[in-house]
Amino acid sequence: MDFISTRVNNLAQSQTLAMSQKSNELKAQGIDVINLSVGEPDFNTPDHIKEAAKRAIDDNFSFYSPVPGYMSLRKAVSEKLLRENGVSFRPEQIVVSGGAKQALCNVILATVNPGDEVIIPTPAWVSYVEMVKLAEGKNVLVPAGIESDFKITPSQLEAAITPRTRMLLLCSPSNPTGSVYTKEELAALVDVLSRYPDIIVLADEIYEHINYTGSFTSLASFEAIADRTVVVNGVSKAYAMTGWRIGYCAAPLAIAKACTKLQGQYTSGASSIAQKAAEAAYTGSQQCVEDMRLAFERRRNLVVRLAREIPGLKVNEPNGAFYLFPEVSSYFGKSCGDRKINDASDLAMYLLDVGHVATVSGDAFCAPGYIRLSYATSDENIAEAMKRIAEALSKLK
Ligand code: PMP
Ligand code: GLU
Repeated sequence: MDFISTRVNNLAQSQTLAMSQKSNELKAQGIDVINLSVGEPDFNTPDHIKEAAKRAIDDNFSFYSPVPGYMSLRKAVSEKLLRENGVSFRPEQIVVSGGAKQALCNVILATVNPGDEVIIPTPAWVSYVEMVKLAEGKNVLVPAGIESDFKITPSQLEAAITPRTRMLLLCSPSNPTGSVYTKEELAALVDVLSRYPDIIVLADEIYEHINYTGSFTSLASFEAIADRTVVVNGVSKAYAMTGWRIGYCAAPLAIAKACTKLQGQYTSGASSIAQKAAEAAYTGSQQCVEDMRLAFERRRNLVVRLAREIPGLKVNEPNGAFYLFPEVSSYFGKSCGDRKINDASDLAMYLLDVGHVATVSGDAFCAPGYIRLSYATSDENIAEAMKRIAEALSKLK
């Protein structure tokens, strides 16, 4: 007897988390694995944020928080959006959740009806398509390869739109590719969207601050789509707070209210202590964000240089986030002893078993010819990992 619902049976396991788990298991067995699988900053949360959380405990922030989050945090987010992105969302339009992941899922569940189409440019982060499946929506994947810097064109977007299109879900800077749409590129997509007033634009801006281009444009800043754009962001990446689980959506009021209703039935408000920490992140000095960004940029330069020295990898220069997404299909069909590499998943497992480096197969991101490497780790780890990858790949004939 299978006790599991079709809904969950049809869901794929998160490959990013699964690879990281596998790498931790091997480490626990004493194997020296370098983990480039999960994407999370390796820095500790800055001290002033930790102090705020300790104060919150002493000040007895131990009761249920309001379902959409403390008003003081929603105000801080509203001010952040105006200050940094030039966009205006009232605190009532902001719903704080257990990470950007929950914020995204809330918005999708709150707006997508069964059969509605959601356009997702690929490569795309692992959870989007699964969240759309949960909502019984239909994923419409629009592929963009390394030759177009993993960015879709306005004509690709237009060709994907049908009368059933409910939403466009765009992530920039992108996980897994690191690509960042310029203001002009976004404007060209907005030009298309302005002709389709019923499409909700869901902008995943979680990597906003991990950006090496010197500028960031929020999709919500375009007047033509401002009244139907939902921004999702949070503290996980910018402030090295992945474990605190605080993210938010900033949305048209009706969508914010719907997310609050949904969240009120299945999680309630996010952790009270973590919310006070997030408030300190948004209202305190932003120097920590820049310090971490500089470290990520230095590592980006290192990983790109080393990856380009490895024969058979096609490597672009990512402009944001902390991922490298090389094209690896030249290794498909090759073997090491009796181990044959048929696809990117085989290659990721081979690199783990033989090279002791954990990566994630592009298959998890709807991009079969690639693997993802997270370079949110020390320069030493990056250098050693790339050496191991080069050695393991050189054994494939
Ligand atoms: N969106 C993207 C593109 C991500 O990479 C992540 C990281 N897991 C999330 C959302 C979710 O972040 P959070 O830790 O805030 O749930
Ligand atoms: N965003 C990170 C990643 O893609 C964290 C893991 C996850 O939530 O999927 O690796």
